[in-house]
Amino acid sequence: MILAGGRIRTLGRTGLNPHSHLAIAGGKVFACGGPEVMKLRGPRTKVVELKGSAVLPGFNDAHAHVVYYGLTRFAADLGGARGVDDILDRLRDHGRSLKPGEWQQGMGYRTDELTERRQPHRTELDRVTGDRPAFIDERGGHSRIANSAALAAAGITPETPNPPGGRIGRDLNRIPNGLLLESAMRLVADVQPLPGFARRIEGVLKAQDLLVSRGITSVGAAVNRGFADDLRAYEQLARDGKLRIRVNEFLSWELLEATSQLGVQSGFGGSLVRAGPIKVFVDGGAERVAMRSGGGVWRTTPGELRDIVARATAVGLQVAAHAIGDAAIEAMCDAVEGAHGQHMRHRVEHCTICPPDLQARLGQLGMVAIMQPMAARFGRVASTIFFPVRDRSHLAPHRGLLRAKVPVAFSSDLPVSPDPNPWPGIRVAVDDQVNGISLLAALRAYISGGAYATFEENVKGTLEPGMLADLQVYSGDPLDEAAEVKWDELRPRAVVLGGEVVSGSLMSR
Ligand SMILES: [Zn+2]
Repeated sequence: MILAGGRIRTLGRTGLNPHSHLAIAGGKVFACGGPEVMKLRGPRTKVVELKGSAVLPGFNDAHAHVVYYGLTRFAADLGGARGVDDILDRLRDHGRSLKPGEWQQGMGYRTDELTERRQPHRTELDRVTGDRPAFIDERGGHSRIANSAALAAAGITPETPNPPGGRIGRDLNRIPNGLLLESAMRLVADVQPLPGFARRIEGVLKAQDLLVSRGITSVGAAVNRGFADDLRAYEQLARDGKLRIRVNEFLSWELLEATSQLGVQSGFGGSLVRAGPIKVFVDGGAERVAMRSGGGVWRTTPGELRDIVARATAVGLQVAAHAIGDAAIEAMCDAVEGAHGQHMRHRVEHCTICPPDLQARLGQLGMVAIMQPMAARFGRVASTIFFPVRDRSHLAPHRGLLRAKVPVAFSSDLPVSPDPNPWPGIRVAVDDQVNGISLLAALRAYISGGAYATFEENVKGTLEPGMLADLQVYSGDPLDEAAEVKWDELRPRAVVLGGEVVSGSLMSR
């Protein structure tokens, strides 16, 4: 196939300079250049006239909760709820679709968007759920509310102690109020019936539709719980020809022992489905991030982290450490240094509050920062509540990290960002007054950054000859008409994976 007469940006050596023609053969880029590429045309070559349309490599969303997002599609949608009554109304409606005794889930509200500015109480949930166990998630994934039936199912009583790295919310009389923070969420999650395999397959398909529609051709599938067999879901979809996105599946830290015994190393698999890093949570979210100035929650202590990173490094496994606060990031640097893990591209997921000394250490230790560019906007607003003033300039320090030679990969953290469209984040990273970066650097962070993080920078991430033909085609050229583009609404007209159209159409309308 030859794409002809477009504005094709490889993001390789030629950066943002457009080429007009691109030839694809065997699922890979065969040539990229000017009209001379047409000389490669054979009798069976399909020629697509782009008429000035822009082409970019497909996005790589390096950290998105694919299965979790998919499952949220079957839960009560609490996104944008304005108050506790709104949450209760939605739960009541959604509950009508459930079988008797079936657990109810709801997801997507945020306390700071509720008029009450507080979490709902379990007794409020009870009013609409009755005896049915119900468990609702705040967007962000670090706190949940269980109703009375769910607390009872988990055996949580006033005597239950807080687990390490978590907290059980309580009323003044010490009776649990339903709120479960960080690792305490597990107390209920572990007794909740697991969603069936078929349901998870359906969830992956829903998530895939959304991701591909946004031009994302590769995703780092982050895990919340130790669903060891999520990998099986991706494998089955790949076998059935239904997987339209390349998946790098994170493995929960509980699987470290089993994974190393199997001899699986990071990157095991093929270019479609790979076993990725061992995921571990160092600190919490929001106001529970671990700061050097004190406070926060350690879901994994620095000592445990050193042990995990050493064991993983010894068997060739990369670690992806959720670390938002500077103390958590520092603990991960210490762990990598202690394990002599410089060659493993160990990852800091979020890396949100990272002052210059830690930026330098990440660079020296060969580590990768997996960041959410929207944090530069929302984080600074939230930071006025959560972080001392002096930490705020080190928030989302994309520029400093790149200067310190730290590879940066961008991601949505879906469903924390409810829409994985990369463009608004790219704009935020470019327009950021404090730590802004160039458009080329931002695009690379959302495209080749993720490929580097999975040791695939020689396979994908640019449209240079020999690379996988994973690309997206736009109507017109959004980079040329930047002033008029509504970035939230920008969608590719067509998405191509390994030379095959997986979304939209290459024909211009
Ligand atoms: Zn996440």
